[in-house]
Amino acid sequence: MKVFCVIDMQNDFIDGALGTPEAQAIVEPVTKFLRDLDYEYEVIATRDTHYNDYLETNEGKHLPVVHCQIDSHGWQIAPSVAEALDALDARIIDKPNFGISPDRWALSLENVDVTEVVLFGLCTDICVISNALAMKTAYPEIPVKVYSDLCAGVTPESHEAALLTMKMCQVDVMNSWEDK
Ligand SMILES: [Zn+2]
Repeated sequence: MKVFCVIDMQNDFIDGALGTPEAQAIVEPVTKFLRDLDYEYEVIATRDTHYNDYLETNEGKHLPVVHCQIDSHGWQIAPSVAEALDALDARIIDKPNFGISPDRWALSLENVDVTEVVLFGLCTDICVISNALAMKTAYPEIPVKVYSDLCAGVTPESHEAALLTMKMCQVDVMNSWEDK
């Protein structure tokens, strides 16, 4: 079964504390893609999730911008995306770090016959790449794909750099409409 991972499509990364015009531009295409998706796929969405101690964490020391505080507006998935995920009965995994470990991914999918993994969302250069590489480690013998048209990076340059790095690590980087 094909598994779709919708990474961190949360308000804070779109038009909140860490929002960008590029992230805002993918909300509609991501929503449309999910609305058109066949019900038979496994769909998992992730949420970046932080607590009151964020600024004391290692991430907080590198990036002292409070974001994705649990239960805040910024932590919520963008409404149109959340609605589309809901219609697909998508599972949601909260994560305190950029990437979910390969073991945790495998455990989350232990009852699924995974034949292909597709990732997209935010941000290309942090959480999408972290989870794409984790998936490559969890499932070395199956295709791992990233839909670049449904991703946005911290900057357009770091988005492109991350796509190149993922290509070098044998992640299939493509546009969603090319994956037939
Ligand atoms: Zn974070």
